[in-house]
Amino acid sequence: MKDVFELMDQLGHEQVIFCRNKQTGLKAIIAIHDTTLGPALGGCRMYPYSSTQEALEDVLRLSYGMTHKCGIVDVDFGGGKMVIIGDPDKDKSPELFRAVGRFVGGLGGRFMTGTDMGTNPEDFIYAIRETRYIQGLPEAYGGLGDTSVPTAYGVYYGIKATAQFLWGSDCLEGRVIAVQGIGKVGSRLVELLVEDKARCIIADTNIEKLNDLKEKYPENTNICEVSEIHRVNCDIFSPCARGGIINDQTISELRCHAIVGSANNQLAEHRHGDQLFEMGILYAPDYLVNAGGLIQVAAEAEGVKNKEFVVAKTKAIYDMLLKIYERSKREQIPTYQAADQIVQERIENVAEIRRISLGLVQEGKGR
Ligand code: NAD
Repeated sequence: MKDVFELMDQLGHEQVIFCRNKQTGLKAIIAIHDTTLGPALGGCRMYPYSSTQEALEDVLRLSYGMTHKCGIVDVDFGGGKMVIIGDPDKDKSPELFRAVGRFVGGLGGRFMTGTDMGTNPEDFIYAIRETRYIQGLPEAYGGLGDTSVPTAYGVYYGIKATAQFLWGSDCLEGRVIAVQGIGKVGSRLVELLVEDKARCIIADTNIEKLNDLKEKYPENTNICEVSEIHRVNCDIFSPCARGGIINDQTISELRCHAIVGSANNQLAEHRHGDQLFEMGILYAPDYLVNAGGLIQVAAEAEGVKNKEFVVAKTKAIYDMLLKIYERSKREQIPTYQAADQIVQERIENVAEIRRISLGLVQEGKGR
């Protein structure tokens, strides 16, 4: 196994916590990347990792991404993430999630978590019996509900901002959008696009979902093969299924003017972002346009249980994306680099402000 401290230094992590409870079988890792902006916030993923090393590398990468997501949408949280090593179909139990709650609670609010791949809000009903630092709960438990709703809104505003930048108008009437994956986010996005009279080409591995959506919007949707969706002729390609879709195989086949979607980590590697820039394909940084869900969870964590607030903050993705596109054009750098720069500047600015002392007691030194 690689040295944990060396791995932490690569992306600048603050803290890594290994959590073990033999009785429930819990093996989990919490990674806290950067808390300059506030306590770490990030989901809890459950996945049958083949090794501790693989789980560690995943949690380090994901928590680093959360610092960027929080920074770009200007919420007062830092980047964190938790991974549970286990099969979500076989290894879940109420006790396992209570144990998760104990470990999260033990961090005293330095880290807050909730659902991610492999976990759902119902799992955390057990965790909240042990800690209050759980977010993204079902509405019946005081949460704001399904995060895919604001996430789809964020992607929609991202698409509109992209149209504004490319064509001088954010009207989507007659525009062709290819949506890869019509799950929770993709299907809501299609609804919003159809309301704006856009035409959607849709693909999903689940044929039933495709037929249902086609039946609902026969005039505005066309079904396409899963293997074809990234290479159809369209105005905007919207990856809403899985990460790594912009890779060595797919990049030369793209036939779109821009890429704006919800999937996390769409660029297989940073160099694919450089390549898109050279090809003249506008890439909307995924961690900005898919941040609607995070905005909602952050609002919950701050005690702002107000959906209008979430919608207003999600709409601001439009202006931030335009700012990124303009910086990319002005400085002739890829859009992902422009976004990273803005995050870095925000963190540095806040760090500078936080040099101002709050006094001994508030800083925890006066007890
Ligand atoms: P989901 O599981 O509901 O939907 C994913 C859809 O993609 C499913 O319908 C699935 O059948 C389909 N799919 C899987 N492989 C495919 C393939 N090769 N080609 C085409 N379709 C395929 O997930 P979701 O909540 O809609 O999230 C979609 C993406 O957005 C994920 O990458 C997720 O990580 C990301 N995301 C989601 C949220 C959120 O709040 N839900 C927030 C941020 C990011």
